[in-house]
Amino acid sequence: MYNKSSKTASEFINHEEILESLKWAEENKNNLELINKIIDEAKPYKIGNETHAKGLSHRSASLLLACVDETVWNKIFNLAREIKQAFYGNRIVIFAPLYLSNYCTNCCIYCPYHMQNKHIPRKKLSQDEIKKEVIALQDMGHKRLAIESGEDPKNNPIEYILDSIKTIYSIKHKNGAIRRVNVNIAATTVENYKKLKEAGIGTYILFQETYHKEAYEKLHPSGPKHNYAYHTEAMDRALEAGIDDVGLGVLFGLERYKYELAGLLMHAEHLESVFGIGPHTISVPRIKKADDIDPNAFDNGIDDTIFKKLTALIRISVPYTGLIISTRESEQIRRELLELGVTQISGASRTSVGGYSQTERPTDTEQFDVSDQRSLDEVVNWLMKLGFIPSFCTACYREGRTGDRFMKLCKTGQIQNCCAPNAIITLKEFLEDYASADTKKTGEALIKNYLENLKNEALKETLKNNLTKIDQGERDFRF
Ligand code: SAM
Repeated sequence: MYNKSSKTASEFINHEEILESLKWAEENKNNLELINKIIDEAKPYKIGNETHAKGLSHRSASLLLACVDETVWNKIFNLAREIKQAFYGNRIVIFAPLYLSNYCTNCCIYCPYHMQNKHIPRKKLSQDEIKKEVIALQDMGHKRLAIESGEDPKNNPIEYILDSIKTIYSIKHKNGAIRRVNVNIAATTVENYKKLKEAGIGTYILFQETYHKEAYEKLHPSGPKHNYAYHTEAMDRALEAGIDDVGLGVLFGLERYKYELAGLLMHAEHLESVFGIGPHTISVPRIKKADDIDPNAFDNGIDDTIFKKLTALIRISVPYTGLIISTRESEQIRRELLELGVTQISGASRTSVGGYSQTERPTDTEQFDVSDQRSLDEVVNWLMKLGFIPSFCTACYREGRTGDRFMKLCKTGQIQNCCAPNAIITLKEFLEDYASADTKKTGEALIKNYLENLKNEALKETLKNNLTKIDQGERDFRF
């Protein structure tokens, strides 16, 4: 039976509830009165100085997704833009993935690291090699990483992951530093999550891949990841272990997207109900071509139109959750999704083990093809020319503004009072240390314009002071 507060996967991601929601959505998809009411109720509203938004339940979001009326969709897209602006403003946080090891004991049908792939070279970075990768990433200007690893208790035990995190945080090359390490590794025990928490990780990210249990089991025919309940209940264990920020995701293309949206939102509702906090981030990857993987072999691929609809609906459903789009996607689709609610993007990613310290992009151990292959400087420049503020900020996490503290700030719109100036500070660091001449010129103009429009005089003074100190060589200021 469906119970969002249950700790059992089959109850909080309940198959019957998803099917009923989709059936109800299909039956009501022409009920424009109901649909318009749902859209109206999801709009941001003010209580005093605070901005709030109710979000959408999995049922309401499923209904909107079923609707095919173009006028309705224009309203949905506009609402997604409005919500993004209200809670996140025009900052875009930038990160890069760092692949530690592609040894894996799983058999994920969609992933080239699957155990039966005997021809892909297997690599695991030594701590020295990690150091080289991190220096290469710092030399681009990165401050925030997401570490990735296959699941292999012998080759990649938790101790290896912990050592790697320690190494990454310890490297201070020129003015560089990695200030937040997010972790995307397989589902593990409460005990191991506690160790990750102690190691100072940012977000623990684990993609569900698919919420459909039967499909999940077929897509993961063997290995530890085969266990649907263990995988689905992982975020509960991570939160129990004290990790405040968890990141969800579906690999779109594996199963029917309507089922996945309902499942994903039920997962968010479950976390909110049990722990009082929703997911810190949601990622929306689509299957890509990779070594022995052909995305066309999967029947449920989604086109760009559906992809935009899903992104907008997630934005509206969980207004306080960061939305991530990776370099799996092209420059064009990334631009369109940034408008509709994406708040974080990866830049200059290499999805191979040891890829950053090589001059040419290596493809031999790539996890998937990278569509957007631009340099970090190009991505930063592009974001600014589109009117966004690229941000390398990691302040919330370092100031302990995680979990419900972050959500509360976000809910009250306060986040913009520290996040936007922090974005400006970290952008300034990037301009000083890593930018090309054109990026620097564009960035300086952006900062000047930002300061001119800043109403809070006290904030403006402090920010100006910090910017001057950055000019003089000091680093790492934050609000
Ligand atoms: N091994 C860990 C796990 O099982 O969760 C780490 C995850 S893996 C390094 C990162 C993510 O890449 C996976 O969760 C999956 O969704 C995604 N992925 C795997 N193969 C992919 C492909 N062919 N195209 C796009 N994304 C893929």
